[in-house]
Amino acid sequence: MHLRDATWPEAEAADTDLALLPVGSTEQHGPHAPLGTDSLTAQTVADAAEADYDGEVVVAPPIQVGVAEEHRDFCGTLWISEDTFREYVRETVASLAHHGWTRVVVVNGHGGNVAPLREVCARITRHDDADAWAFTWFDSVDAPDMGHGGPVETSLLRHTHPDLVREDRLDEAAAEGAEGWGEWESGVNLAYDTSEFSENGCVGDPGEGSRERGERLLDEATAALLALLERVADR
Ligand SMILES: [Zn+2]
Repeated sequence: MHLRDATWPEAEAADTDLALLPVGSTEQHGPHAPLGTDSLTAQTVADAAEADYDGEVVVAPPIQVGVAEEHRDFCGTLWISEDTFREYVRETVASLAHHGWTRVVVVNGHGGNVAPLREVCARITRHDDADAWAFTWFDSVDAPDMGHGGPVETSLLRHTHPDLVREDRLDEAAAEGAEGWGEWESGVNLAYDTSEFSENGCVGDPGEGSRERGERLLDEATAALLALLERVADR
């Protein structure tokens, strides 16, 4: 059940304590992929798991602005501080729990959200009336070439939102992008902003992806999220 589409009596009738909370970002993904990539991918994986789950699970509307200041030099990127983000997630989970949806899996699509989500989910579970865990879809799949707006995300978008991928800008994305994330010395990433190491914000060659790989990635991520949901339901 999706809260966005349900009426309150329908929400009240939901016979479950499980909820999914998609969390993304609005940030540059190179010249070829939309600013909403991380929100779209998180929502897509959450929707697929909800559809395949053997039981009922409530899907909350997505949080679409996250911890993304590192992309501030590229127009359209929006961000909030980690403190604001953690509080927003914590209070949203508290309102889900108020209605009885006390086991919450946050479905994340953005790397910058990972550390604050781990921290706030632990705080929620230890101190609030809910248990929460954060699942990041690209950490659950085989994606050593993740990059940023690279082959992994672009493959998934080519499968799920092909109209939003600017196929005619893939070559430019690779040519003016970076091969790796950051500017490293002695284990320290000296760069705080993506613009310090990537001219157009892209990391990796998005043209190496394919719609077929995107389909496999979605299947893998959905299966991983389903396994997590079943484990959470049994706890
Ligand atoms: Zn992304």
